[in-house]
Amino acid sequence: MEDERRRGRRAILLELAEEGRLSTLQLARTTIADMCRRFGAALKLPETIAGDQLLWALAGNESSFGVHCSPRHESGYCRGGRYFDPSLTSEWGCLAHCSYGPWQVMYPNISKFGTISPLDILRTPEIGANAAVQFINERILGHEKATTLEQIADAYNSGDWRDANRPEGYIADLVKNYATSMAPGFQKA
Ligand SMILES: [Zn+2]
Repeated sequence: MEDERRRGRRAILLELAEEGRLSTLQLARTTIADMCRRFGAALKLPETIAGDQLLWALAGNESSFGVHCSPRHESGYCRGGRYFDPSLTSEWGCLAHCSYGPWQVMYPNISKFGTISPLDILRTPEIGANAAVQFINERILGHEKATTLEQIADAYNSGDWRDANRPEGYIADLVKNYATSMAPGFQKA
């Protein structure tokens, strides 16, 4: 059974490789904007923050609006790391230690939402968008009760906005990107 599952995963990876390492590793700004409009409305935000614009800003911070969507391996989640998860690792190896897609969602943060696999997010950016929205709703807005852009940025980047770790550069970039238009061709000066 275990061998069968492992073989299945390898087949999927080979298939992806043959597709030319996936068209989803780099996405057009218009595609990102479209996903922001489709998924942003589901964010349970205070009225002062627009959901589509928040997703847009996060995509700006995380992937330069879709230019860099390749998975990134985070050593803190790997063997010997602070956030190492033996069970997810036995299932997925180092794929369980990566962030994915335009919003670079950390797989361990979203693995509990339904039955999402790392390969699902790799193949289908919309799954990543939906997972990012669920994560923000549940963890950042629900559990941590963030109410400002700065708090949301802090939590998305460093885990909890209420601790002493405040990623100033990331927060400043997010505020700047939030003010950037989704309109095609528009580039902030
Ligand atoms: Zn690893």
